[in-house]
Amino acid sequence: MAKQSAIYEVLHSIIDRGGKEKLIARIERNTQWEGDCLIWVGAKKRNGYGALNFKHGGKHQQFSAHAVFATLMRCAPIPDDLEIDHICNNRLCVRHLQLVTRRENLELRECRKKTIK
Ligand SMILES: [Zn+2]
Repeated sequence: MAKQSAIYEVLHSIIDRGGKEKLIARIERNTQWEGDCLIWVGAKKRNGYGALNFKHGGKHQQFSAHAVFATLMRCAPIPDDLEIDHICNNRLCVRHLQLVTRRENLELRECRKKTIK
């Protein structure tokens, strides 16, 4: 599993090679609106998160779909010491994301267990 900070470089290299339209089309094919959430409907990883595979530097790399979206929205690499929280509590949503520390992520998880069914 590649580091999440590596996504930025991979996306940039795709866009630099003129692959932006193809990338957008691929994202559109693999997402669907459900109310306010943009849900990943493409391939999934074993842990239930969406998966996006890229060929970069001659090798295949797999990233979490939400980490790719978080990188695109941030326009900067996601630091490897931060985690991506799903504000809407749906791990397949690629829209309602925020960067949090490990500790914050665990606290949010506990909090939502009590407040969200
Ligand atoms: Zn959502």
